[in-house]
Amino acid sequence: MKHKKVALIGNPNVGKSTVFNALTGLHQHTGNWPGKTVENAYGECQFEDTLMTIYDLPGTYSLVSHSLEEQVASDFICFEQYDVAIVVCDAVCLERSLNLVFQTMEIIPNVVVCVNLMDEARKKKIHLDLKKLEELLGVKVVGTSARSGEGLEKLIHQVISIEKHSFYPLIYPKYIEDFITLVTPFLEEFHYNPRFLALQLLRSDGIFSYLPDLKRDEILSLVKLPRRIFREDDVVGTLLEESRKVSKKVVDFQDKNHDQSMRKWDKILTNKITGIPIMIVMLFGILWLTIRFSNIPSSMLFDFFAFLETKLTWLFQKCSFPWWINGILIEGVYRTLTWVISVMLPPMAIFFPLFTLLEDLGVLPRIAFNLDRPFEKCLACGKQSLTMCMGLGCNAVGVMGARIIDSKRERLLAILTNSFMPCNGRFPAMISMISMFFIGVSSRYSSFISSFFLTSIILLGIMMTFLVSYLLSKTLLKGMPSSFTLELPPYRRPQIGKVIVRSIFDRTLFVLGRAVSVAAPAGFLIWIVANVSFGGTTILSMMSNFLEPLGVFLGLDGMILLAFFLGFPANEIVLPILMLGYLSLGSMVEVNDLVVMKGILVDQGWTILTAINFILLCLFHFPCSTTILTIKKETNSWKWAGLAFLLPTFIGFALCILVRCLFLLF
Ligand code: GDP
Repeated sequence: MKHKKVALIGNPNVGKSTVFNALTGLHQHTGNWPGKTVENAYGECQFEDTLMTIYDLPGTYSLVSHSLEEQVASDFICFEQYDVAIVVCDAVCLERSLNLVFQTMEIIPNVVVCVNLMDEARKKKIHLDLKKLEELLGVKVVGTSARSGEGLEKLIHQVISIEKHSFYPLIYPKYIEDFITLVTPFLEEFHYNPRFLALQLLRSDGIFSYLPDLKRDEILSLVKLPRRIFREDDVVGTLLEESRKVSKKVVDFQDKNHDQSMRKWDKILTNKITGIPIMIVMLFGILWLTIRFSNIPSSMLFDFFAFLETKLTWLFQKCSFPWWINGILIEGVYRTLTWVISVMLPPMAIFFPLFTLLEDLGVLPRIAFNLDRPFEKCLACGKQSLTMCMGLGCNAVGVMGARIIDSKRERLLAILTNSFMPCNGRFPAMISMISMFFIGVSSRYSSFISSFFLTSIILLGIMMTFLVSYLLSKTLLKGMPSSFTLELPPYRRPQIGKVIVRSIFDRTLFVLGRAVSVAAPAGFLIWIVANVSFGGTTILSMMSNFLEPLGVFLGLDGMILLAFFLGFPANEIVLPILMLGYLSLGSMVEVNDLVVMKGILVDQGWTILTAINFILLCLFHFPCSTTILTIKKETNSWKWAGLAFLLPTFIGFALCILVRCLFLLF
């Protein structure tokens, strides 16, 4: 069996991941916005007697990297050893994609060009002469519509039977060409194209670490002068001009107004007056659907797990297990696990498909576009709003998504403020409080009013993000906002079936799996602290008594603070821990009925003030352990992870004190 290593490269949002998934049968995340692939993914694909390992690289416009995600791609393309590079291009805007084709062809002599989105081009009456493109470039070109699988077999065929092509004759300004001629004799023995190596040398000394055998001193003396006058624009200009020339010969726009309907929608969605209100209404709609339709499946799951619990308990008794085994395994681990599943699964199974639908449609970049100006005023970057959208699902995912932001300073702003967006795991506790204390549990319009309150809470989180980003930009993370051009991709009709399957498997089960994996040990620990006692007082009560003065000072109580601390592994267990503490039952209890739950809380001295401050603390407190670990991984420093822990907690405490003072005053 032959083996080939294949790199998939292309601009963001041209369908690389769709090609990758179709070839490998894997489920790499796809979505209609630039920047969602932030890490290399790889999979295998066998065709006839060849086994191919295919690498899906993050989207990039250029191999001179600006952001972290671009660097991942350019490092791979420039310095990894692989046999073939497939450059995926957008048939609808070929000119923009060609830039990367030229750059890649400059590096390796085994390139296949895949012109994807041919179906969209046909719909927009854009005609492409792929034969001509093949002639002009001197490499194999295949037209595909990856969504429907059109052209993929031919693509694989070309990859397998690839022959070396010659490098594309790009002519740079004279001083660059002179330098290339001068330095080429030193570079010829290497695996890479000398022209590419020479250009890298003009940019920096970085290349020496990849090719240690280079004659460093001689080369440095040659490069000194040209480097002084070198401008990246001279290279980019040549690439753009060549792309324009080739595209003009190959592309024929038969309908000059092909993007008119997109422009019409954009006029409304990105309009200064209508844009933001429409986004708020969309947010409200998603939350309403999530709240309205998750109650029934949630209580069905509760009932099912409770039924199973009685059976398990019966089995344990039959087997004569000691009481504490039953306690730890059933009342501790099992109950925590099933609570998390019942509370989290239904809302996520509704929220994520709706969110993915918007993502596929192309709405997310429009949100970023609308919020770009306010973010710029706060000295941050509009792409931060995309990471916030992801944070609504899961903060850890939002933190990782910050890789799409080019500047390190702005990336840190996005990471440190991401937890101001309440993740899915925090929704249920907030909704319960809203229902119990602000609407009345049996109101006919409760889901409608709950969604209204929840939207307002999220807007408060957004305001806080602006404020804190501004304050950090003026203090710890000083700097000006970088300018960036956010691309608005075309609206695409989402594939409903795929969206549902993908969001359930990729997102819902992924997030749930993570929550469940921390819920099990948490359940164990909570059972221990609730049952082990010294001098007649459980560890749980001791801890809560210790926190009581601080809790009261914040307009809460010790048990509430303790529930938040013990809920550090997963936010969704805060409320069950609270019930367990209040009822002193020794195990978590399912208080499914909100009337009963409100009675318990009021008996413990809860007032409107407690409920408001509980919600505030839900919104502003330390992120869960998974998010903190992700922050540590992304920033490579405990310092930033520590700050991400302290910052929202401090804000939450300060707001609680403020609200308490207001209550005392009025
Ligand atoms: P990537 O950023 O290059 O990995 O792009 P994705 O694979 O995530 O695709 C971006 C969007 O284009 C998604 O909404 C895909 O469903 C859509 N898409 C990908 N290939 C095609 C295609 O051939 N035809 C159409 N109509 N849409 C496609």
